[in-house]
Amino acid sequence: MNIIEGTNVATAFSVLFIIFLIVDTALKFWLDSREINCIKAHRSAVPEAFAQKITLQAHQKAADYSIENIKFGQKERWFNLLFLLIATFGGLIQLIYDCFTAWFGSGLITQILIVGCFAIISSILDLPFSWIHQFKLEEKYGFNTMKPKQFFKDLGVSTALSVILGVPLLAVIFWLWEASGQLWWLWAWLVYVLFNFALLWVYPNLIAPLFNKFENLPQGELFDKVSSLLKKTGFESNGLYVMDASKRNSKGNAYMTGFGKNKRIVFFDTLIKKLTPDEIEAVLAHELGHYKLKHIYKMMAVSFGIAFVIFALLDVFAGSSWFYEGLGVVLNEGQSHAVALLLFSLALPVFTFPFTPLSSLSSRKHEFEADKFATENADGRSLITALVKLFSDNASTLTPDPIYSAFYSSHPDAATRINAIEKLLKNENK
Ligand SMILES: [Zn+2]
Repeated sequence: MNIIEGTNVATAFSVLFIIFLIVDTALKFWLDSREINCIKAHRSAVPEAFAQKITLQAHQKAADYSIENIKFGQKERWFNLLFLLIATFGGLIQLIYDCFTAWFGSGLITQILIVGCFAIISSILDLPFSWIHQFKLEEKYGFNTMKPKQFFKDLGVSTALSVILGVPLLAVIFWLWEASGQLWWLWAWLVYVLFNFALLWVYPNLIAPLFNKFENLPQGELFDKVSSLLKKTGFESNGLYVMDASKRNSKGNAYMTGFGKNKRIVFFDTLIKKLTPDEIEAVLAHELGHYKLKHIYKMMAVSFGIAFVIFALLDVFAGSSWFYEGLGVVLNEGQSHAVALLLFSLALPVFTFPFTPLSSLSSRKHEFEADKFATENADGRSLITALVKLFSDNASTLTPDPIYSAFYSSHPDAATRINAIEKLLKNENK
């Protein structure tokens, strides 16, 4: 390809990138305004289905909190857009690349330093947003229970972890890229998959305890209920734990981590405080449903499949000079794996955003299936009361806009979910 043709392709790619940026931004703001209008329109009264279940005060708190969260997200979005433009066309990545290659050459260490430097800059810029979200917004609505000291402790631990886990992973991938020929991306993908499997073991055993205390669920009514539920559903687990989530946030939740026999069931202490043992049993039955119906494995398979495509695309883009030039970077030596990786990870979400509803769709289907599993194996009525309590305590809106939900929500809205559970219960009683 001659120089003029190459430049044309680069320009065309720039134009395409900017068109997608504009479309994404317009789409995001349009979705936001729909959601805000829908919440505002229903703010004055509790929806009929919940009239007996939650107070007007709780309903309005949820409306205000949801709207404020969206508006905060918009500010962050403008900032991120500006940063993306500065990083690409504004020359930030070019500057980092020029400095590090001038100082240290273009070897493996330089590539890691380039990614590291960029990651540090973007995390520092992200900090004020995390701070304001936690200590202003969450605080205002009574959710924040975190002390500033904890915030910095978390920051220190997660930074150290990113270095300990991220640098070796990056080094292996860059090394494969350099040393293993045309199919480097296939090997890199394999390493990525293995790394994720290793994390499934490492996370509950070594990482989560750095952030929280885990105590065995004490003997008693809840312990008995949960144990018999596990027995009934034939679920193998490596222990029941209570986690001190209350040191950061007052919102309740439960989750499961691990793989095979190494699975742990973790209840937030905030959940145990708010829900009755029957309700917790029902919530856990829902989570067990995700495992028993193989949702977790399906999601993993899908995400590894997507990663496979991403690595293959990365190979194609990294080998084309129009990709760098189209995003505002000129390399003085044919390729830079670090720059390719940075540009690719910045550009990819811009092109994939319009497809977000696809992933939300399958996730919502899984939620209905897990609710069905829960009503079959625990008390459906308790699942309903638990959902109402969680929605109300977490100030989630009960009146979302349908198109906004179709785009973003991994879970169906409360009314739809409760309706579906009530239908199942009616059929059971027939
Ligand atoms: Zn679920």
